[in-house]
Amino acid sequence: QAAAKAAAVNADSGAPTIFDKIINKEIPSSIVYEDEKVLAFRDISPQAPVHVLVIPKFRDGLTELGKVDARHGEILGQLLYAAKIVAEKEGISDGFRVVINSGASACQSVYHLHLHVLGGRQMNWPPG
Ligand code: ADP
Repeated sequence: QAAAKAAAVNADSGAPTIFDKIINKEIPSSIVYEDEKVLAFRDISPQAPVHVLVIPKFRDGLTELGKVDARHGEILGQLLYAAKIVAEKEGISDGFRVVINSGASACQSVYHLHLHVLGGRQMNWPPG
């Protein structure tokens, strides 16, 4: 937990992230859904039987939810809609969770906006 927090504190530089390499297919990922603007792939450290990350292919200032502005409205909607498509594809439409960690206090570690789509087990509340 402390390590995750430390990684998060040091991560928000605006520099390219590992997700750019995934978008460019420079490192492998398990892709679940892709269209012109959105990519969805399996989290390398799954926290549920289904754990997929949904990201914009063009970061365009989208480092974290806390820093978006009005011009990002369309892509934000597309990301949320893609999360719904992912849930359908993964067979978890009956119950799933979408999480966005924004900033160090939320333990965000990769500063390329991403939605976590989690499901396939009972999701509890409140989260940690
Ligand atoms: P946290 O690391 O605290 O979960 P984030 O919300 O920033 O914070 O999530 C980043 C996610 O990216 C993590 O769930 C991590 O497992 C995932 N991840 C990191 N590298 C890769 C990779 N190469 N392929 C797939 N997922 C990755």
